Amino acid sequence: MNRQSICHICGRTMESSFTHCPWCGVVLDTGKKFADDIDLIFEKIKARQEKHFNSRIDRLENQLDMLEEELSRLLDKVHAV
Ligand SMILES: [Zn+2]
Repeated sequence: MNRQSICHICGRTMESSFTHCPWCGVVLDTGKKFADDIDLIFEKIKARQEKHFNSRIDRLENQLDMLEEELSRLLDKVHAV
């Protein structure tokens, strides 16, 4: 069974998950929901930043690999001369 809460305006009971009172239509205690939304947004931003950071590292590693290959080719050439 869902948790019930009491409307602070009309005093009737409703499901605590409601954001509006179904009886009088008042907007209920959205402070907590708002904080949850903020948390969610920050989590998304963090996840995106981590993803971006990881893809940057991947790119850098690829570039390093290519550089290393090029260097070794260059060294081979120098030794061949
Ligand atoms: Zn109400």
